[in-house]
Amino acid sequence: MPYQDDFGRAINYLRVSVTDRCNLRCVYCMPAGGVEKRAHTDILSYEELALIVRAAAELGISKVRLTGGEPLARLGLPEFVGMVAAIPGIDDLSLTTNATLLARHAQALAGAGLRRINVSLDTLRPERFRQISRRGRLEDVWDGIAAARLAGLTPIKFNMVVVRGLNDDEVVEFARRTASAGWHVRYIELMPIGASAGWSGDGVVPIPEIRARIEREVGTLAPVHGPTGNGPARYYRLPGAEGTVGFIGAMSDHFCATCNRLRLTADGRLRPCLMSDEEIDLRTPLRNGAGPQGMTALLAQAIQLKPQRHRLGEALPPRGRTMSEIGG
Ligand code: SAM
Repeated sequence: MPYQDDFGRAINYLRVSVTDRCNLRCVYCMPAGGVEKRAHTDILSYEELALIVRAAAELGISKVRLTGGEPLARLGLPEFVGMVAAIPGIDDLSLTTNATLLARHAQALAGAGLRRINVSLDTLRPERFRQISRRGRLEDVWDGIAAARLAGLTPIKFNMVVVRGLNDDEVVEFARRTASAGWHVRYIELMPIGASAGWSGDGVVPIPEIRARIEREVGTLAPVHGPTGNGPARYYRLPGAEGTVGFIGAMSDHFCATCNRLRLTADGRLRPCLMSDEEIDLRTPLRNGAGPQGMTALLAQAIQLKPQRHRLGEALPPRGRTMSEIGG
C-alpha cells in the first residue's frame, strides 16, 4: 500500500534524475552556457540511486520515471534500468528524454526492462528545433523515436512546452498528429523555473487558450475517462483520433490535490514538491552509512513535508535551479 501524506494523497511515484547535465540548451530551460557543473563525486552512483529506489519501494512507491538533465547523457543508463527493474515492487519504469541520443540505446533500454518513454518535443520544424535547443538536430529525434517503436517502448507520449512567439503556432499541427499518426500529445504550460524564472508572463500560453485553438481549428475534444497516466494531465480525444490530447497546466490548473510524487535530484536531494525549494539531503546520511532503513525514514519524512498546494505565481519563483537540475 502506498504511504499517504497528511492530506490523504497516496504517494506511489518517484522521479529520479540521473544527471543534471543535458546535451541540449533549450532556451526556456537552461542558460546558453549550461548550468554550473557539479563534481563527479557530488552525483550519486547508480548503486546509491538504486538503494534509494529500493527504500522507496518499501514505502509503497511502485512507479519510477528516470529523468534529468538528459538521462541518456549519462553513461551506462541501460545497466541502471536493469537495477531498478529488478527491485521488487517497482512495476512501472519509464523514461523522459529529448530522444536525440535514443537511437543507439533504445534496444538495450527495452532489454533491461524499460517499459515506455515520454519524448520532449517542442517543434516539428528542423530549423526551429535548432533555434529552441540551441544545438540539437530534429533528425536525431525521429531516428530515436523509430528505434523506440522498434524496441517496443510504447506508447510514446510527446510533451510540448508551449511558449508564445516561439512555437505556439504549431499547437494545431501537433493536435492533428493524434489523428493522422496516433500520437499522444501533451501540452505543457511554461513554468517560471530555470531560464524562465524571470518570466513576466508573456511567454505563457494558458491551457484554456491552447484548448480553444485546437477546438476552433480541428474539432471538439471529448474527455477520455479511465486510466491514461500517472500524473497531472487531463486527457481528451479529437473525433476519430486514435491518439490523445493531454493538458498539463501548473499555473492555470492547480493539480496539487492529486499529486502523487516525489523527486530525487542527481546529487541526492529529495524534493517533496517540484515548485518549492524545500529539499531533504539524502546523500550525506547515505554516505555516512544510514543504510536502507535510514533512507526509508527520510523518504517518509519528505512525504510529510509535501505542501498542500504550490505557491508558484504567488510568491518568488524557486531560486533559479533549472528543470534539468531538479529533475523536471
Ligand atoms: N532531457 C529530458 C527531456 O528533454 O525530456 C528530461 C528533462 S527535461 C528538464 C523535462 C521536461 O521539462 C522537458 O519536457 C522540458 O521541456 C520541460 N521544461 C523545462 N523547463 C521548463 C519550464 N520552464 N516550464 C515547463 N516545462 C519545462
